[in-house]
Amino acid sequence: MRPFDYHRSEDRGGAVKTAAQEGALFIAGGTNLLDLMKLDLMTPKHLVDINRIGLDDITETDDGGLSIGALVTNSDCAADSRIRKDHEVLSRAILAGASGQLRNKATTGGNLCQRTRCYYFYDPDMPCNKRKPGSGCSAIGGANRIHAILGASDACIATYPGDMAVAMSALDAQVVIEGQGGATRTVPVRDFHRLPGDQPDKDSILETGELITHVTLPAPTNARHIYRKVRDRASYAFALVSVAAVVSMDGGKIGTAALAFGGLAHKPWHDPKIDDLLTGETPSDALFDKAADILLADAEGQGQNDFKIPLARRTLKAVLREATGDRS
Ligand SMILES: Cc1cc2nc3c(=O)[nH]c(=O)nc-3n(C[C@H](O)[C@H](O)[C@H](O)COP(=O)(O)OP(=O)(O)OC[C@H]3O[C@@H](n4cnc5c(N)ncnc54)[C@H](O)[C@@H]3O)c2cc1C
Ligand code: SF4
Repeated sequence: MRPFDYHRSEDRGGAVKTAAQEGALFIAGGTNLLDLMKLDLMTPKHLVDINRIGLDDITETDDGGLSIGALVTNSDCAADSRIRKDHEVLSRAILAGASGQLRNKATTGGNLCQRTRCYYFYDPDMPCNKRKPGSGCSAIGGANRIHAILGASDACIATYPGDMAVAMSALDAQVVIEGQGGATRTVPVRDFHRLPGDQPDKDSILETGELITHVTLPAPTNARHIYRKVRDRASYAFALVSVAAVVSMDGGKIGTAALAFGGLAHKPWHDPKIDDLLTGETPSDALFDKAADILLADAEGQGQNDFKIPLARRTLKAVLREATGDRS
């Protein structure tokens, strides 16, 4: 690990100001950043500890939704009675990730910003455009079992590894961000992460020094919430494919549908065409196949990850059957 300055911030303004320095990074739970620093893969000159700036509450918003502070731990978020009751997909997704010990430290802001688990990103001896722009991509033509089938580029085929953001995407959550001088902006979580394009080193739309302060959830609807994560082991493994679904029924028809997918792309994947196709329709296997056709129309395997294409189809159809099935 390289030497760095450590700054413990006591308030948001101070944290954002300190993080404006060149080479500064926030540290929250540290469960991703410290690993990357130990491996010399991220080398901040200034570490800005935000654990004492507040932002550790979940509060109700004026429109009946919830505001989750960036420092709320994954454990506290998953256990919150309002989230368990009204936004169950989020609780389920968080509990499907990492381990109890990690979730006790991992935070809402840090989880959104966690970096890919591509093997080559973690190996400083291998070319990797995400770690070292312009060096090449070892996963293309290499070991790529966990890699993207959607939205990849010639520069990078990595996936975003998180679970929480997939559920937040299905819930159409918003990320509230604070920049210099207290300026804030709000970005849908669906637009927060980036596709790799020719700049895969940039994971999200966050600019240097910007602080995630909250994530807001809209008012709940009377829908069924499902998070299904397919992975190599029953626990403590990242998703190969995951599906978050928030689906309501209106009589025998689908009233509303919002689906998001993990493990498939450089960002949680949301395609409004799938939600639109399902809304107002009578559930059937043929309909669910059409939804999978839309999801996978541009899917491209890289060899070892070709299995993700049929796996994503099967997982989506199973989730839709469960979401629209007998509710008695
Ligand atoms: C063995 C292992 C297994 C795991 N399995 C899973 C899994 O199955 N599913 C899953 O989703 N995750 C998994 N994780 C990842 C874990 O969830 C993340 O490490 C954690 O959520 C990161 O949160 P943190 O608070 O520790 O972030 P940190 O490590 O403190 O920070 C991560 C990044 O976020 C930035 N950051 C932190 N807070 C803010 C903020 N408020 N504003 C702007 N930037 C910020 C930091 O600068 C840093 O770049 C696993 C991790 C490990 C080590
Ligand atoms: S897939 Fe992306 S992260 Fe992995 S080696 Fe290629 S450029 Fe690096």
